[in-house]
Formats: sequence, C-alpha cells, structure tokens
Amino acid sequence: MKNKYVILGGGIAGIGAQYRLGKEANIYEARDRVGGLCDSFNINGFTFDNAVHLSFAKDDVVRRVFDKTPYYAHAPESMNWCWGNWVRHPVQNNSVHLPIDERIRIIKSFCYRNTDTDVKNYKEWLEYQYGEYFATKYPGCYTRKYWCCDADKLSTKWIVGRMYQPSLDEVLEGAMKTETPNTYYTKEMRYPLKDGYKAFFDHIVDYENVHTGYKAVSIDPISKTVEFENGQSVEYENLISTLPLNQITDMIKDCPEDVRLASKELKATSVCLVSVGFKHKANIPSIWFYMYDEKMPAARAYSPSLKAESNAPEGKSSLQFEIYYTDDKPLTMTAEEIKETVIGNIVEMGIANKEDIEFVDVRCVPYANVIFYHGMEEKRQIVIDYIESIGIQTVGRFGRWEYLWSDQSFLSGYNVK
Ligand SMILES: Cc1cc2nc3c(=O)[nH]c(=O)nc-3n(C[C@H](O)[C@H](O)[C@H](O)COP(=O)(O)OP(=O)(O)OC[C@H]3O[C@@H](n4cnc5c(N)ncnc54)[C@H](O)[C@@H]3O)c2cc1C
Repeated sequence: MKNKYVILGGGIAGIGAQYRLGKEANIYEARDRVGGLCDSFNINGFTFDNAVHLSFAKDDVVRRVFDKTPYYAHAPESMNWCWGNWVRHPVQNNSVHLPIDERIRIIKSFCYRNTDTDVKNYKEWLEYQYGEYFATKYPGCYTRKYWCCDADKLSTKWIVGRMYQPSLDEVLEGAMKTETPNTYYTKEMRYPLKDGYKAFFDHIVDYENVHTGYKAVSIDPISKTVEFENGQSVEYENLISTLPLNQITDMIKDCPEDVRLASKELKATSVCLVSVGFKHKANIPSIWFYMYDEKMPAARAYSPSLKAESNAPEGKSSLQFEIYYTDDKPLTMTAEEIKETVIGNIVEMGIANKEDIEFVDVRCVPYANVIFYHGMEEKRQIVIDYIESIGIQTVGRFGRWEYLWSDQSFLSGYNVK
C-alpha cells in the first residue's frame, strides 16, 4: 500500500488535515472510531463527551465547518463549589456568596498584594494578581487538582486569556453585589443540538479513507513506511502525525537518544471521567462548575444534559466529573472507590440523593492537558525540530505539545502543507 498522504490519528487535528488535503489523504486511527478527545460515548440512552467540550471558535474556516451543524449558544455562566458554598465564577469577582470574614480576607489579600515583583512562576503570578491568601487557597489548591502539581512548578506561558485579572473595583463590587458582569473569556459557548460535540465536524470526515484499528508502532523515515500493531504497513509520500511527541520518538527508527530523552521530559495529565446518569432532573447549578475542595477528587464537572437536551432521555439529567492524574500524582482509588466518593460528593453539594442516580461510569483518557513545567518549551523544540527534519509534519494538541482548544487543533491540522 502506498499513500500520498498518511495521517496518524483521527482526532480533530487529523480530520482537519484530511479535510484540507482531500481524497488522497488517509487517516490511520488506533481506536475503533475517530474523534479523539472530541468524541462522545453513549450509556443507556445518555450521551457523554470526553470532558466538557463547548466551542467558542472565532476563526472563519472553523466556523464555516462547525456552523453547518445546528447548535445551542449558551451564556458562559459557571459556578464554583468552595467548601460548602456555591459561588459564581470567577470567585474573586463574586465573593458576595462567601461568608463575610472570607470576603474581608479576599479583599485584604488583593489590596496588600505585592505588585513590585518579577514574576518567575505561576505561583508568583497568582500572588501578584490576587494576593497571597486568595492565590494559595483558591487557584493554588485548584492547580494541584487540575495540573497535578504545585503552582511554583509551572511557568506562566499558557495563561494569556485564560485567567481573569480583576480590578480593585471589581473585587469590591463582587464582595457586595450579587449582580456582577460576566467576565468569562468568551461571550458564547456553542454545542450541537444533537449527537454530541463531534457532530460539529463529523460531516466533513471522508470515512472511505479512514482506517480504524490501526495503531502505529513504528515509523521508518528512510523507507517512508509506517507499521501498525495489527501487522499491516503503509508507505507514504507525506506523513502527518498527531501523535504525542513523547510517544512518537519511541516509534521512529534510529531516533537520536538526546531527542528521545528530551521527549520523555514532556509531561501531560490524564483524566478519569466519571459519568453519572440521573433518573430525574438533578439540582445542577450550571453547565459546568469547578470544585476547589481537595477532599473531593474531581477538579471540575459539567452537565451533558444542560449542554443539550438530547444528551439525556426525557425527564432525566447527567453530569460528568473530571479527575486528573499523572505518573507523579497517580490515581490511587479503585473504580468502585471513585464511584462511591463521587456519589458522596454529589449528595454533599446538594445536587441529588443516592437513590436519584441511575448509573455511574468510570473510564480514563490517557492524554488530557500538556503540562507547562519550567523549561518544557526547549525540550519540545528539540523534538519538533528533529521530527520535522526527517520530513514528518507534526500537528494537533499533542503533536505541537500546546494547550490548544479544539478549533485550534483543527486549524493546526488544516494548515498542513
Ligand atoms: C478536559 C478537556 C476539556 C476540553 N474542553 C474543550 C472545550 O470545551 N472546547 C474546546 O474547543 N476544546 C476543548 N478541549 C481541547 C480539545 O479536546 C483538543 O484541542 C482536541 O480534541 C485535540 O485534538 P487532536 O486531534 O490534536 O488530539 P486527540 O483528540 O488526542 O487525537 C489524537 C488521536 O490519535 C489517536 N492515536 C494515538 N496514538 C495512536 C497511534 N499510535 N496510532 C494511531 N492513532 C493513534 C488517538 O486515538 C486519537 O484519536 C478540551 C480538552 C480536554 C483534555
């Protein structure tokens, strides 16, 4: 078999590449379905995505593809569960929902923060923005749950546009008023009316040229051949990879040791998805919410049934919790322990009672978010430079090793040459 374009991985980046390259582009995907992180799964008539997934794409190319699918446009309203209180997001602008002593601490933290500092890491960035008390108690705690490390281990290069930086007026108003402006980084969160997030781009997939059950295991850049776990192989003229940079180096024949070692310094979080179906409409506070309490293993949860009614059978509702882990902070609970803990958390947050729950499903996704440890960018560059030097185009969230949203991953694939 010889292909003009071989694309490894059928996530949204691989699909974006196929869309751009046309009929001669073949996707080889390890799983039995395409979609990757943007895929969905069904349980008892409920649809769940792989974690939250809402679109706020701005780019025209992406909008022309995504907007062919009818969608809901949700306001970006979310909540935070802060040790017994539901607080509108972001907490620093809405502390009115917290006890008065806590509001005073947050205001003082903001007023007395040290702004005369040379910020060297994410911890210092948080203290500079919000003051030490708030930084330590809220985002500092959340960082351990979401990024699986302390904030001082992270650089600040990924933050732009993702974290809100309030003014003193906003902090003060938020401590006194329940009506505050929505400061989320986008005004509209889009989601398909039916069939899960993948419906936004499933219609462009050229399924005749998709080969599922093809897990790449070795790449020979000299003979231009890829071998798959199923015993098949394919020759390519052009190779486009969306595979994680820290995996592909093990597949490339005669990959230099320094490149392989650099790739092993690239770390990502994994996510355990705990999907819950409710027999009724549960008391879900917002489409998605954050959980600061470290006794609760999940960092965040979202409601598929609030994203789209079609995601749950009539009269029922759903939630999915995200528990992050890494090799350094492994998931130590069994699936049964995770289920019991999440059920207890649901009851504690006043969302539903145990009897209201129809099922709880636990499954894991190995690659979730790339971690911006100090010096990561230099290691990443070593790996990308080498891969490109042997004629492989590397794209997508884990192929660029970037914190890309789905639309950015799509474009990364679409922009192949
Ligand atoms: C928790 C979470 C929430 C997110 N929420 C949002 C959101 O709300 N909005 C948004 O726009 N974006 C969101 N994203 C980002 C979005 O999911 C990614 O940008 C996008 O899905 C990445 O696509 P990709 O194709 O680069 O990678 P992937 O989706 O990971 O695709 C890679 C594909 O390669 C396949 N593969 C792996 N190894 C091999 C192999 N050896 N051989 C063949 N195939 C292989 C995999 O099975 C997979 O299908 C979120 C991401 C996460 C983790």
